[in-house]
Amino acid sequence: MEFVLIAIAILLVGLVLGVSLLVGRGRRTTRLDDDAAAGTTLTRPRPPTPTTEAPPRPSGATASGMGTTAEPDAVSPEAPPEVELPPAAPEPGLVFETPPPSAGRLVRLRSRLARSQSNLGRGLLTVLARERLTEDDWEEVEETLLAADVGVAATQQIVDRLRTQSMVLATASGQELRQLLVRELTAVLGPDLDRSLGVDRHDGRPGIVLVVGVNGAGKTTTVGKIARVLVGDGKSVVLGAADTFRAAAADQLETWGERVGVLTVRGREGADPASVAFDAARTGTEGEVDTVVIDTAGRLHTKGGLMDELGKIKRVVEKVAPVTEVLLVLDATTGQNGVVQARVFTEAVTVTGVVLTKLDGTAKGGIVVSVQRELGIPVKLVGLGEGADDLAPFEPEAFAEALVGPAD
Ligand code: GDP
Repeated sequence: MEFVLIAIAILLVGLVLGVSLLVGRGRRTTRLDDDAAAGTTLTRPRPPTPTTEAPPRPSGATASGMGTTAEPDAVSPEAPPEVELPPAAPEPGLVFETPPPSAGRLVRLRSRLARSQSNLGRGLLTVLARERLTEDDWEEVEETLLAADVGVAATQQIVDRLRTQSMVLATASGQELRQLLVRELTAVLGPDLDRSLGVDRHDGRPGIVLVVGVNGAGKTTTVGKIARVLVGDGKSVVLGAADTFRAAAADQLETWGERVGVLTVRGREGADPASVAFDAARTGTEGEVDTVVIDTAGRLHTKGGLMDELGKIKRVVEKVAPVTEVLLVLDATTGQNGVVQARVFTEAVTVTGVVLTKLDGTAKGGIVVSVQRELGIPVKLVGLGEGADDLAPFEPEAFAEALVGPAD
């Protein structure tokens, strides 16, 4: 009988211990999940850490990625970690990078326009260098310009102007021909358009930049690159990950920000983009930064839906500070098709500048001319590669020089 009683007592104690252990585990998981799901979260870039020293290992579990240390009492030492521990050695990128300033970037990246240069610049120079230009030659000039997506009107303008200078062309040296072509191309690139970016503080509030465009155009990448341009120019920046429909977009942006010590405000997947944009604007205002750059969703849904969404984002953000720049990101490799898509955005929101990406991947560099003419909006930045600093302010003359190529 005594044995039976002792056995029952042991069983009971065992049961109680088992249940309490299970409850403990459940609570820990819930707490971490709750934290992750609690609306908009702020991603603070990790402080720079010297790469030579290993960072102290946290006593408890640490959420992977952003260094959010879980409360020490939430994890018992012997329990297996439920989230990934950061590596003992510092991850690369913990030391903030120092991007180059915006000035001179286009000149540095001009070789990326090689494909356009060999098609457009070389093509034109070869024809124009002929001794006497026939009608067939002029047709070839025209075809070369059209094939480079310069557009009909600008092509006509260039050909007409060149024809009036036939006498000059006949006797011009290679160097003079080159200069003449640079001058004519610069003229159709709108050298007098205002390409300054509205990124400065005013009335005690940050400049607010909205970045819009279709998925795949390079929008999120461009927001990251813009942050680097601004940091390179000595500005303080906050990023807003308002593309809450694409799960990877916020992570992508966060990584860009982290590399240069820029804060990213993000929401959980599917959160209201306007509320994330609002939080980003408020964070930037409270933090007294120079510029807040907000990435938006690029789904090409109905025009009405797009208008509603972008309109709401703008309205909500402007409760905090006026939007000072709306940049439309366009993929140069999509040519005229991209311009048609772009119209949907220009009708939904007042676009103040175009960012033309992937110019390194096309032989149709003339797209800059036609985009500007057709949309009536200046190209302000150009993407010239997948590298972090392959984004440059657009300068018509430097661009024309790059298209024509170096003097022999
Ligand atoms: P989103 O969907 O518009 O946000 O597009 P992403 O920012 O994710 O970019 C789509 C792809 O385009 C990525 O592989 C980028 O690296 C690439 N990309 C963006 N800009 C450029 C550029 O200027 N040149 C090249 N070659 N690739 C680019």
